[in-house]
Amino acid sequence: MDISVDPEEKYISGTNTIRYKVLNNNQVLQVDLQPPLNIDNITQDGKTLSFESKGNAHFVRLEKMQKEGDFNEIVVHYSGHPKEAVRAPWDGGFSWKKDENGKHFVATSCQGLGASVSVAQYDHMYDEVDSMLISVQAPKGLMNVSNGRLRKVDENTNTYHWFVSSPINNYGVNVNIGDYVHFGESYKGEKGKLDMDYYVLRDNLEKAKEQFQQAPKMMEAFEHWFGPYPFYEDSFKLVEVPYLGMEHQSSVTYGNQYGNGYLGRDLSGTGWGLKFDYIIIHEAGHEWFANNITYKDIADMWVHEGFTMYSESLYIEYYYGKEAAAEYLLGIRKNIRNDRPLIDPYDVNKAGYGDMYNKGANILHTFRQIMDDDEKWRATLRGLNEEFYHETVTSKQIENYLDDQVEGDFGTFFDQYLRTANIPVFEYEIQDGIFKYRYTNVIDGFKMPLKIKLDGTPYGLSHLSIGNKKRLKETIYR
Ligand SMILES: [Zn+2]
Repeated sequence: MDISVDPEEKYISGTNTIRYKVLNNNQVLQVDLQPPLNIDNITQDGKTLSFESKGNAHFVRLEKMQKEGDFNEIVVHYSGHPKEAVRAPWDGGFSWKKDENGKHFVATSCQGLGASVSVAQYDHMYDEVDSMLISVQAPKGLMNVSNGRLRKVDENTNTYHWFVSSPINNYGVNVNIGDYVHFGESYKGEKGKLDMDYYVLRDNLEKAKEQFQQAPKMMEAFEHWFGPYPFYEDSFKLVEVPYLGMEHQSSVTYGNQYGNGYLGRDLSGTGWGLKFDYIIIHEAGHEWFANNITYKDIADMWVHEGFTMYSESLYIEYYYGKEAAAEYLLGIRKNIRNDRPLIDPYDVNKAGYGDMYNKGANILHTFRQIMDDDEKWRATLRGLNEEFYHETVTSKQIENYLDDQVEGDFGTFFDQYLRTANIPVFEYEIQDGIFKYRYTNVIDGFKMPLKIKLDGTPYGLSHLSIGNKKRLKETIYR
């Protein structure tokens, strides 16, 4: 991607060179680009190609014979006034802002909306590019920060060349332009030396140096729970932006006003949410769940948000203990609405339902109780990041992996909580020494072990089939 950004005119122009491997001998290639951006022309080996446009999709007729196994390139030239974000990062597009000194402060975000809002490419989550060179020409005196590592700066044109060496999901790609100053540190992590770099507005340097001390703390806690940071080669960055923040891979964007909580608020209402900077912890947590392990379809977005919201409690657990983390999870549980399933229909670019955050985190915590082994749970979280390293996944793959780590089959547990909005009700009675119990409001075959106490004596209803919603199951316990 090689573009020039003109904040004065809110205008961009440039090219994207797409290098691809031919999988089938087809002569048509889809490229996505959203209006009002316009394709100026498309070339292959210097020859201009024709294309047919249907909405955001452009079907390019390739003239050169496409032979299976070949590597080819097309160059898409495009320009225009891109869509402007109104409520970044929730709607997406370009945020054309100014800092307090009146200097341009520009950032892109596009989760859900798609990266074709700013770059011509094949806009689908199952298809991650292996690597990417991002070259952005910024106005003189300002700096561009994108993903990966800064390879060089072309002083004459003020063009910044960033290179991402790992697969990257399309919404992770971002352009940030501002009057940035830089500071950084070298972190000793599980995989060796990790460069951690910070780019903040000139006036915020001192505040950032204080607040971003939480970044290495975050790294320590998350490497403990999830395994090595997944992008050592590309470094880790926090980059200040004029919106709240986003999990842009290896250049996590930050706009939380240099304070703890979520814009100063505690989402859990327990006090624990004010012990950390929500955006540093949450958005960086996405490096493991969103950027390392990425959904193929946004309907499965709970895989990003459930695990990442859960990562907040793991951060608390690492520094303040298990009790504190449990309180935090119970706190955010109050925000669950339970009026719709978490997973939405597939193949229509429909994001999972909002409960994926608070309920998603609590589903995972509930599953941890089924596993009932903290070390194994940690190994499972680390195992997920190894098993699906730099991959795109479906929710099913994640569910199956989790299920494989425990005895018994808990497929129905995930179906119940992810695919219905019904909450199981545990009903029981005790009569003449007979303990009768059942779950209601559940799908067929629902199973979930419970720990109970009868007269102070603990019993585990662990591997019993307790799923029949019609009949009371009877078990004699004494
Ligand atoms: Zn998130």
